[in-house]
Amino acid sequence: MVENSCGFIQLESSKFELAMAPGGNVCKDVHDSHPTISGYDISTTKAESNAIQSKGTAGLAGKHGVYSNNGVHELLECPVCTNLMYPPIHQCPNGHTLCSNCKIRVHNCCPTCRYDLGNIRCLALEKVAESLELPCKYQNLGCHDIFPYYSKLKHEQHCRFRPYNCPYAGSECSVTGDIQTLVAHLKDDHKVDMHDGCTFNHRYVKSNPHEVENATWMLTVFNCFGRQFCLHFEAFQLGMAPVYMAFLRFMGDDNEAKKFSYSLEVGGNGRKLIWQGIPRSIRDSHKKVRDSQDGLIIQRNLALYFSGGDRQELKLRVTGRIWKEE
Ligand SMILES: [Zn+2]
Ligand SMILES: [Zn+2]
Ligand SMILES: [Zn+2]
Ligand SMILES: [Zn+2]
Repeated sequence: MVENSCGFIQLESSKFELAMAPGGNVCKDVHDSHPTISGYDISTTKAESNAIQSKGTAGLAGKHGVYSNNGVHELLECPVCTNLMYPPIHQCPNGHTLCSNCKIRVHNCCPTCRYDLGNIRCLALEKVAESLELPCKYQNLGCHDIFPYYSKLKHEQHCRFRPYNCPYAGSECSVTGDIQTLVAHLKDDHKVDMHDGCTFNHRYVKSNPHEVENATWMLTVFNCFGRQFCLHFEAFQLGMAPVYMAFLRFMGDDNEAKKFSYSLEVGGNGRKLIWQGIPRSIRDSHKKVRDSQDGLIIQRNLALYFSGGDRQELKLRVTGRIWKEE
């Protein structure tokens, strides 16, 4: 067990350490100069012996999961930003680890010992991570799955329990939460109009329609089939052309959004434009839906024609319906 007393990390990268700190027993130096991190070394050693014992067996990542071993889990937290570290994990010549984002931020100077970081990978820790299984970070929101360390991040980006972003457009709103929370937030904080029913008849009036700036938008929420739908209406510049666009987003995931359809109609002076579509999930950002032009688009000239009168005022009547596909 002599090698264990020096720690797995040091063994793996001893070549680098010798090159960077010639003549020193790095493991001993670490203990002497940084007594506070001795727990770190001990945990690493434990993880290493586990890994060695279970090599070639399924034991380590099996039912019991190593994630219960807090020591190992903590080892993988970057001491600078406290996020979990992913390859390449870096270390200084004295063995202090940090994540690749932080390595750039600290300008190559170890935040713990001020030594030059160099370009030393901590392959051992990367391998220990590979053997771990961790619960999804949305465990408290209902996800009970457990993932190999390196798949966890990817899963979390798509986990169906992850919170939704606030669907309000026009200002960057950082509020996240489940649908119920967001509906209350839209009502209370953004003063959004809420309507019950699956048909609607809306009038959009604007007195100076020749100012088309991206900030012109409206949001209305419909309660329909026990679910919520966001009707967006806005003016923006599509290429050279000023346009108005209306589209619907579903407050829920994409697989459920697909079960609904909607239609929008706008017209006047005996003309009519009709759009039929499928609401987009609010997982897709407002901007993404707008940029994909997945909605009713009305050129401003036509919109003014629909408005009648002297083209000095925009008066659009948009009617619509939401239904469930069987
Ligand atoms: Zn970091
Ligand atoms: Zn250091
Ligand atoms: Zn999950
Ligand atoms: Zn908001």
